[in-house]
Amino acid sequence: MSRILVLNCGSSSVKWRLFHGSDTAGKGLVERVGSGGPADHEAALASILSSVDLSGLAAVGHRVVHGGDRFSAPTIVTDEVIAAVRDLVPLAPLHNPANLTGIEVARRLLPDVTQVAVFDTAFHRTMPAWARAYAIDTSVADRWGIQRYGFHGTSHEYVSRRTAALLGREVTDTNVITLHLGNGASACAVKGGRSLITSMGMSPLEGLVMGTRSGDIDPTIIFHLRRVGGLDVDQIDELLNRRSGLVGLAGDNDMREIIARRDAGDAAATLAFDMYCQRIKGYVGAYAALLGRVDAVTFTAGVGENAAPVRAAALAGLTAFGIAVDPDRDDGARSGERIISPDGAPVAVCVVPTDEELEIAIQTRGVLEADRAPSEQR
Ligand code: AMP
Repeated sequence: MSRILVLNCGSSSVKWRLFHGSDTAGKGLVERVGSGGPADHEAALASILSSVDLSGLAAVGHRVVHGGDRFSAPTIVTDEVIAAVRDLVPLAPLHNPANLTGIEVARRLLPDVTQVAVFDTAFHRTMPAWARAYAIDTSVADRWGIQRYGFHGTSHEYVSRRTAALLGREVTDTNVITLHLGNGASACAVKGGRSLITSMGMSPLEGLVMGTRSGDIDPTIIFHLRRVGGLDVDQIDELLNRRSGLVGLAGDNDMREIIARRDAGDAAATLAFDMYCQRIKGYVGAYAALLGRVDAVTFTAGVGENAAPVRAAALAGLTAFGIAVDPDRDDGARSGERIISPDGAPVAVCVVPTDEELEIAIQTRGVLEADRAPSEQR
């Protein structure tokens, strides 16, 4: 079985994992790239490559945050793909440049190895037009690429597929509301294995209350802060992306701390917790309506996998919709993929640990096989 190296390059870090089949043969995280750690991404990657056994390496799979409306599937990297990812930098100014650097350095250091780009947005390219568009002047939207792209796609795809497997169902016949609750957070209505709608939009700022992002707000807040508050656009961007959400409401983006302070009666932490959970509940209700039939609601990522109080509060009072958590099944003692709703409930409530690197490896292998198939058939 050949090996796949998965790389997730951030602006100052490189996360990597080497797969042998679906087993992990090695993994690591190099931080402070360019600021005390390795001098640059090339040095970081060179040190990673020198420390791992690359024999039988079939491909490198790269996480790329924004694929715009160009990429709806994982793609073998060519000069043209690199140019297209570069064209998308204005849509993801923090992420795509770092992802591109990783691709370019990996190509240079491993010139004979196939590089595959796996996009966070690709899974959501199946959203219908009504879910993708914003209700603004179409000509303005078209000119500036304004539409819902959605993010966390590899996670929503992986988790919805695992949920179907957990329920013993075909993914094509399973409707799941996936709740990816990490530092960034998004909900997705997955209908028969395809994204119908998701809460992150043109950027990861829209939707749920997150660790440091506001999620949904009235856009007038931005005009008001500009016109009346005198903030410039970069300050507003920083406010909404980095100083809002749990941090803005309670001064801390760690849900463990928020829950501990709430349990001790802290008012700010209680408000933050309530807003966080009620926002999730609102999306679950909306997505249940849009799906028509819901087979499962699945929690994943740092908060979703670990915080039973969030799961309980976010789904409290939904028994009329067939959605309930059994407290005895969600007592914090269990881990791994599990069902936490009562037996026979119309809607299964599940916890499925996400594994974006494994999904990137699976998709990378899929691209290699699809690429090879035509010549083998000849
Ligand atoms: P992620 O982005 O998926 O790595 O999630 C990171 C977030 O998960 C952290 O900011 C924490 O708020 C949250 N988290 C991790 N472990 C726990 C836990 N045991 N209980 C509540 N929240 C947790």
